[in-house]
Amino acid sequence: MSVAENLEKILQEIPSHVQLCAISKTKPISAIEEALAAGQIHFGENKVQEMCDKEAQLPKEIRWHQVGTLQRNKVKYIAPFVHLIHSIDSLKLLKEIHKEGEKAGREIGVLLQMHIAEEDTKFGLDEIELFQLLESEELKTLAFVKIHGLMGMATFTENTTQIAREFRGLRTLYDKVQSEFSKNDRLDINTLSMGMSGDYRIAIEEGSNLIRVGSAIFGERKYD
Ligand SMILES: *Cc1c(COP(=O)(O)O)cnc(C)c1O
Repeated sequence: MSVAENLEKILQEIPSHVQLCAISKTKPISAIEEALAAGQIHFGENKVQEMCDKEAQLPKEIRWHQVGTLQRNKVKYIAPFVHLIHSIDSLKLLKEIHKEGEKAGREIGVLLQMHIAEEDTKFGLDEIELFQLLESEELKTLAFVKIHGLMGMATFTENTTQIAREFRGLRTLYDKVQSEFSKNDRLDINTLSMGMSGDYRIAIEEGSNLIRVGSAIFGERKYD
């Protein structure tokens, strides 16, 4: 099946309130162009250099999402154009994003990445750290940052009960953040990013409204 056919199949299957971010890491410009021609606007990358190279070569209508670890010293390269950063795991990183957002003259949208998987390799905040960050006085001063919600990755397992349980935990936390932190200048909670090629159906059942799908659109990645 072609990229366009894969996209169409997924879009037909997901509810209209769920946004699809096509994860194009390791894939060539031509694959992104094919998806773009089929109407896909949101794309995600996990390496800053690769995202910048692609951004320079592709139409400006694309909305670029940063997924996966982001080093503070690389924020400056994506600050002028990035649409949403999914992988915030510290106030330090948020401060850097604020600084670079100010230089670029634009507010940068972010999600806080939560650690919900069993593996320790998937980084992210725990619940205590999440609320410390949201309640910190310093956050209020970061005028070029807007927190839109939470992101999480479930354990890589065949056990769908476990995956559902992990996503449900994140959904509960998301609801809690939404109800306890009313919309303010730094917060506009409306996005729950969970679900990838192998588990997006479960994620949507558990309340995701943004899925990050790579291989189910573009095929398996060779170098990961
Ligand atoms: C690579 C990646 C994805 C997409 O993975 P697939 O299994 O190919 O859909 C989603 N989210 C993050 C954070 C990723 O790094």
